[in-house]
Amino acid sequence: MAKIETPRPIRGTQDIFGTEAEAFAHVVETFERIRKLYRFRRVEMPVFEKTEVFSRSLGETTDVVSKEMYSFEDRGGESLTLRPEFTAGIARAYLTDGWQQYAPLKVATHGPLFRYERPQKGRYRQFHQLDAEILGAAEPQADVELLAMADQLLKELGIAEGVTLQLNTLGDAPSREAWRMALVEHFRESRDALSEDSQERLERNPLRILDSKDPRDKALVHEAPRIDDFLSGEAERYFLQVTEGLDAAGVAWHRNATLVRGLDYYRHTAFEFVTDRLGAQGTVLGGGRYDGLIETLGGPHVPAVGWAAGIERLAMLVADARKLAIDALDVILVVEDDRALRVAQQSLAQLRRAGFSADIVASGSPRKRFDKAVKAGARVILSFTFDEEQDQAVRALRGPDEWVEKIDAIVLPLVLAQGQ
Ligand code: ATP
Ligand code: MG
Repeated sequence: MAKIETPRPIRGTQDIFGTEAEAFAHVVETFERIRKLYRFRRVEMPVFEKTEVFSRSLGETTDVVSKEMYSFEDRGGESLTLRPEFTAGIARAYLTDGWQQYAPLKVATHGPLFRYERPQKGRYRQFHQLDAEILGAAEPQADVELLAMADQLLKELGIAEGVTLQLNTLGDAPSREAWRMALVEHFRESRDALSEDSQERLERNPLRILDSKDPRDKALVHEAPRIDDFLSGEAERYFLQVTEGLDAAGVAWHRNATLVRGLDYYRHTAFEFVTDRLGAQGTVLGGGRYDGLIETLGGPHVPAVGWAAGIERLAMLVADARKLAIDALDVILVVEDDRALRVAQQSLAQLRRAGFSADIVASGSPRKRFDKAVKAGARVILSFTFDEEQDQAVRALRGPDEWVEKIDAIVLPLVLAQGQ
């Protein structure tokens, strides 16, 4: 008979299991709790959109649109794309679903994204993000609010140590354009010294050269013109209000004058939370203000700001994931005699309804079940045996007194009521 081959998983996708999955869930749960503190409304977004939602808003020259999108024609002949980010889809919904009426609108979501990238540690083709956006808010307080929320998230995850907030301004449209022209001039002078990638960026997307990790580019980036020399008075005031707001809110930040964001639509504030603990994939959270985006989708001028964070990268920083998993088990039930199975099942159901996390060992050789239960690492071991003289199941509990008391208050009445 021909051997049936098992299909392999797709490169750059992950099956997340064990402590990594616990850390992943913990990141999402913490985000959910914090977005409510900051009054962000939950939204659910489609995983695919018309290709133009992304190509128009992100810009054809970005890495994402030019080489990372999963685009395909569906059976109706329409070009669709698996979302490579949340912002464009949320901006589209803002226009098509009438969300303008809620402006300023604070929304949060999370889920999978897809980019055709070179898979490596911390970089996948299907990955997951947390996302928070404020649409229809032009004031610096919106930027401060988002950054304070990101800062609190990292602190509550216990991973803020060694993660720094790098902050920059890209100015308003005139400042950014003047800076862009000066950069092009600067890099053109030493064109041949640039990496091949950056020579190409020079024509298409010169700001991206500042982002380059190639050592040949780094020296030239160091001497490149700074945005500060091109900021309009208004752009300067805006940035000052953001930094003063952060100081007032107790959010630590560092100026990084060469920080740019990969996408074309950013204005004013741009930021990244960066760690050196994840090697080359050190950016855990990034975002900024994108006042020009909604217009590229045919909407009115809508100022907006947001961020996204890689859940896998955050989860990798959550060190005590193992503890998260074990802490979850309050009580393990062990059926040492099969005649006690019914009352054990009853107890299990009642304990879970009362809010205790509980599991049961009721299979395999009865003599080995207790040892299995011990290994579960629960707070309380609740074992059931059968008393021949009384002709009924009996229970025994082992664990800290306060927990044993709470649990037995639920179990004892069930044991006493047997056969009634
Ligand atoms: P990078 O410079 O690492 O490619 P990016 O600028 O493309 O990041 P964004 O589009 O701003 O990233 O996405 C926000 C966050 O999402 C990143 O900071 C990172 O934590 C995460 N992220 C982005 N791409 C991936 C990926 N391919 N795999 C895992 N996480 C990712
Ligand atoms: Mg990228």
